[in-house]
Amino acid sequence: MKKRKRRGLHIFGKTTLIKKILAFYLVIVAVSFYFMLAVGRNYIYRQVQEETAASLEDAIDRLMKSTLIGTNYDEKKLAELRPSFEVAAQAAGGRILIIRETGEIILDTEKVTGEPYYNVLQHGEVSFLHKNATYNYTIGGYLGTPCLCITTPLRHSSQFQGYLVFAHADSIIINRSDYYYNILATVYYIVIGLLLLTYIGLYFFCFIPLKKLRAGSKDFAIGRDNPPIIIRSNDEYGEMAQTLNVLGQELSKFDDFQRKFLSNISHDFRSPLTSIRGYLQAFKDGVIPSEETEKYLDILISETDRLTKLTNQIIDLNSYDKDNILLSVSSFDIHDTIHRAIDALDGLAMKRRIAFRTEFAVEGALFVDGDPEKIHQVLFNLMENAVKFSYEDTLIYVRTSVKKDKVFISVRDTGIGIPKDDIGKIWDRFYKSDLSRGKDKSGTGLGLPICKEIITAHKETIDVVSTEGAGSTFSFRLPLSKRKKSG
Ligand code: ADP
Repeated sequence: MKKRKRRGLHIFGKTTLIKKILAFYLVIVAVSFYFMLAVGRNYIYRQVQEETAASLEDAIDRLMKSTLIGTNYDEKKLAELRPSFEVAAQAAGGRILIIRETGEIILDTEKVTGEPYYNVLQHGEVSFLHKNATYNYTIGGYLGTPCLCITTPLRHSSQFQGYLVFAHADSIIINRSDYYYNILATVYYIVIGLLLLTYIGLYFFCFIPLKKLRAGSKDFAIGRDNPPIIIRSNDEYGEMAQTLNVLGQELSKFDDFQRKFLSNISHDFRSPLTSIRGYLQAFKDGVIPSEETEKYLDILISETDRLTKLTNQIIDLNSYDKDNILLSVSSFDIHDTIHRAIDALDGLAMKRRIAFRTEFAVEGALFVDGDPEKIHQVLFNLMENAVKFSYEDTLIYVRTSVKKDKVFISVRDTGIGIPKDDIGKIWDRFYKSDLSRGKDKSGTGLGLPICKEIITAHKETIDVVSTEGAGSTFSFRLPLSKRKKSG
């Protein structure tokens, strides 16, 4: 039972915004149409009827004041007054009758004076004389057509003399109410037409683009080729389509990125593990001569170091991704930090007869604002790369310069350089240029992405200028500290 009910609800298919607005529009049209026809027409008729009754009462009032007060209505007097009655009747678009209590009609502006036009009304017919207004009445057929009859008693010297009846044909009232109704109907149809135009406008300018956005983004999925939504208009919908397209592309790439990330990690873990296992097996099998033990133990230590470095870098990057890097900003001497990094790398550099040269903006301390430990990490990574990718017997230059309120720090080597096509990729995680692979076995491809994250967290920039075969210069900036020199 329940199931059947549900199917019934979906008889018109999926509920969409356009259908809801169409239903709303149709309900408005139906309800207003009903009110127009049934209520509106009747209401106008009643209003015109009441207005006519009021204007007839006014006309009678004027007539009474101007001609009838204090009159004795004998036949001679009435004949005298007849022209005034005729003028008043014509002006109000009606007919004036004077009827005695007995039912005798002694004057009718629509009949010529003379015998024998005066009727005597029957008892039942005269009862309307006691009411002020009677609607749709023919006075027992005497008037010929249904009329609105307004009745006023006539007196002379407080003596009752009969009734003045002002009759107004209903057909005139109907004509007038039809006239007003037609005006109202025309306005109504114009409003309905405008509503229809609004609906058509909404359909083309809002619903069609909305439909496209819905259809285009409905199947967006991670790792899929999400085709772009094409909306050419330069409005909110166009903007929304652009935003969704960017999102779609990011989603397409996301899976790719994740897959690459995992394959890189597994690859970088697998190679040192394979070599560690190989050497350990060789030790176990006793195939390594005792004089070479030291050499192979060094290799084992270096491979485990590499695994430790890789793990630490992945943990660092992962934490940078999750929350913004928490910086512990202070004013510190960048020259001192550079010297600390040089000291840490001196051993490695000396092995390859590479030396560091400093070219500082000022002698002594130069204070910058930043996180000293994180900046030390950046300098260490850049200088370690410079050592790794330099030729033997060369120099590495570390420079500082001050421009306005910024300090520029650069690390320049004259090593292998970076191929032009690779420059844009070196900030990507796990990227290692083909050129560098042979030279550097310990590299993880995570050092530069970490540098970039750290400098970006300082709201500063890091850049590289490099020529293949000639060398590279990495430079970044930091805000100059207000504190110029230490004690
Ligand atoms: P890695 O641990 O491999 O050095 P990085 O992210 O620090 O990882 O560097 C990524 C790649 O950028 C390196 O493998 C190398 O190809 C290139 N690169 C970085 N610094 C230099 C440099 N000073 N000279 C030449 N190539 C460099």
